[in-house]
Formats: sequence, C-alpha cells, structure tokens
Amino acid sequence: MTDASGAPRLTLLRGDITEQQVDAIVNAANSSLLGGGGVDGAIHRRGGPEILKECRALRASHYGRGLPTGQAVATTAGRLPARWVIHTVGPVFSASEDRSALLADCHRNSLLVADELGAQAIAFPAISTGVYRWPVEDAAVIALRTVSQSPTRVEEIRFVLFDDRALAAFQQAADSLGLSAN
Ligand code: ADP
Repeated sequence: MTDASGAPRLTLLRGDITEQQVDAIVNAANSSLLGGGGVDGAIHRRGGPEILKECRALRASHYGRGLPTGQAVATTAGRLPARWVIHTVGPVFSASEDRSALLADCHRNSLLVADELGAQAIAFPAISTGVYRWPVEDAAVIALRTVSQSPTRVEEIRFVLFDDRALAAFQQAADSLGLSAN
C-alpha cells in the first residue's frame, strides 16, 4: 500500500534478504554477474542454479562486457521466495573521488526495472557497504534520499539490513531526511 501521498511505504528491518517475501530482491552484484561473496553469494546459494544460468545468458547477449556500475537487470529468483532478482553493481567506495551518483543510480535503476516488471514490493540490501567498503551511515542517506525522490509505481520499499549497525544507520538516515519508516 502506498500512503496518502502516493509515495511507497518504506520499511527498515534487520534480516536476511534471501528470506524476504517480496516480488523482487535487489542483489549487490559485481559486474561479472557470475556471483561473488556477501549478499551475492547468499542469493546464488539459496536461489539455486537458475539464477546463474540467466546471468550467463545475459553475459552472452546484452552484457558481454559485464553489467556497468550503477545499472540494473533482472533475472528469475529461482528457489527464493521472491519472483525476481534485480542485479545492480554498486561503486567501490573511494575517499578521493565522489562516486555517490553511481550509488544513487543503482537505487534509481533498480526501481525502474521493478516498474518494468510490475513489482509491488521490493527489498534492497545496503549496496556497496560490504566488500565495496562504503561507510554505511553515508550509503544509507544516499539510498534513502534516492528512493524517496524516484517516481515509481512500487508500493513498498524495504531495506533489509544484515546487522544492528546498518539498521541503526538507516533509521538515523530516515530521521535526518524526515522520512517515516516502519
Ligand atoms: P558490496 O560488494 O556491494 O559491498 P556485499 O554483499 O559485500 O556487497 O555487502 C553489501 C551489504 O549486504 C553489507 O552490508 C552486508 O553486510 C550485507 N549482506 C550480506 N549478506 C546479506 C544477506 N543475506 N541479506 C542482507 N544483507 C546482506
């Protein structure tokens, strides 16, 4: 359900994204689309080989050189409760170069793909905050600001945070942006 303003409902919770009962979960993939560690590894492990099969097909067709940073593409979610996985490639954090526009692109483009699919509920992990080292307090502000400013037909946007620190960072960011979340 959207609220009275038509904006999607925003939910923040601590959990494992592979367990979410939503239409689409977002994967913090790497550009190879062929799997990795962290949330990517968990999604492929629990979703089964169908996901990798579609990723390989994407590499053989549209994305011969890999999925560029900031872009998003969907596959089946295999055996996961979700219907689709939306793979997006976050930027590696850099202290010397501002890559926040690319992190925003991940969120905006994932929502565009969700709209194309007709997804009503979508779950995001804290993209780039693991192996790609983005400080979670900063990533949370970028993520929440971007999704709250992106026009979408998605009705629920859920952020699934893997630990207490990430959850606290997202709650704090929502407060600082004046967004209501539950
Ligand atoms: P990136 O390469 O974009 O940094 P990672 O997968 O290394 O991606 O980390 C992104 C975030 O996902 C981190 O905050 C990590 O703690 C979190 N994470 C790892 N596994 C899961 C999971 N199963 N569900 C939700 N979040 C997860």
